[in-house]
Amino acid sequence: SYRKGGYHAVRVGDQFAGGRFIAQRKLGWGQFSTVWLAYDTSTSAYVALKIQKSAAQFVQAALHEIDVLASISNDVDVNSKCVVQLIDHFKHAGPNGQHLCMVLEFLGDSLLRLIKYNRYKGLPLNKVREICHCILLGLDYLHREHGIIHTDLKPENVLLISTIDPAKDPVRSELSPILERPEGNINGGVTSLIEKKLKRRARRAVAKISGRNALLGGNEDPKSGRNLDGIDVRCKVVDFGNACWADKQFAEEIQTRQYRAPEVILEAGYSFSVDMWSFACIAFELATGDMLFTPKVGQGFSENEDHLALMMELLGKMPRKVAIAGAKSKDFFDRHGDLKRIRRLKFWPLSKLLVERYKFSESDAHEFSEFVLPLLDFTPEKRPTAQKCLEHPWLKKMENESGVENVGVGMSNLKMEPGK
Ligand code: ATP
Ligand code: MG
Ligand code: MG
Repeated sequence: SYRKGGYHAVRVGDQFAGGRFIAQRKLGWGQFSTVWLAYDTSTSAYVALKIQKSAAQFVQAALHEIDVLASISNDVDVNSKCVVQLIDHFKHAGPNGQHLCMVLEFLGDSLLRLIKYNRYKGLPLNKVREICHCILLGLDYLHREHGIIHTDLKPENVLLISTIDPAKDPVRSELSPILERPEGNINGGVTSLIEKKLKRRARRAVAKISGRNALLGGNEDPKSGRNLDGIDVRCKVVDFGNACWADKQFAEEIQTRQYRAPEVILEAGYSFSVDMWSFACIAFELATGDMLFTPKVGQGFSENEDHLALMMELLGKMPRKVAIAGAKSKDFFDRHGDLKRIRRLKFWPLSKLLVERYKFSESDAHEFSEFVLPLLDFTPEKRPTAQKCLEHPWLKKMENESGVENVGVGMSNLKMEPGK
């Protein structure tokens, strides 16, 4: 993809915008872009440079993303802080064409990496609560203040706020982009010495970083023995390339497969509540380390049909009215509202699944289900809004380290008789 119309090949030290930005290291990549840590010489700060592929459709997509980001950046609303801020944008000419570049605030690892580096075990529920709280603030802001639907909410698109100072630790990270550069070596197959060295340092950093896992996993930092439990997990929603306004939609098929709401599969129209569905999928994934739905094509049925079947096995039968309401409904459902090609469903309700497969305690499973299940209502209008969801008692419940509830701080102590 490093060809005409594709990615722009970047080397450490490359300059952008007339020398204003200097590339430091690669942070990530997507279908549309590569993202680099860059030093902003005009402000002496680090930023993320999202360098778009250069073909016309990518330029178009970048213009759209800039449009959305510009409308939500530099807003005085404090909750705007839960979405990534666009600092600037410019064009950069390279051998593969003209690339639109977005200058974004520099953020840390994605939730996907967080889940991976926690070895897909699921995070402690307090961390899940904190992250959920943050995402909801971002969604409430987007939905209510701007009428924007993100449409591609998934763990990859939520980034933690970086705790690493790039000036001190330029090659840090478990995440070394160098270790997982999927599109091959940009220097044309010859791994430079510098790159080898960077790789080695990055590998060493992996070991060092397990302490950081702890930060995120709620254990102890093995090195310092410090308990990092109290650290506030904060994150931001990123990747507005597919975002739309509720009254100005662009695509029928939205969302990444596993996070896709049923009304999108059925082509029954959509609104803000599709983000709430994806949010529920993320909450489950954070808590268990597994994706909630992983549909597959099978013998005699499609991925879509499997997806609908998985939903119903977890959530019960889809109300007939909803099942038959979409443009695609007839492809999947008969007139009774039963799936045509997948007849026998094995029901496994969420709270049972959490206890039996993920070894949640009965009470944790029950409370977490009460938080998540309303968001997975088949009837989109019935799903709580982000604003409503922010009031949910599950988010407010914090447990101390021994796992004992900490509601109504001090009250039980006050009632206790002296000496008991
Ligand atoms: P997609 O294929 O998901 O649409 P994309 O090309 O639009 O991808 P993004 O998802 O915006 O690109 O960014 C790609 C990756 O770069 C992210 O998953 C993340 O790892 C990293 N990244 C993006 N923005 C930032 C940022 N502001 N700070 C740090 N890293 C970032
Ligand atoms: Mg992305
Ligand atoms: Mg994108």
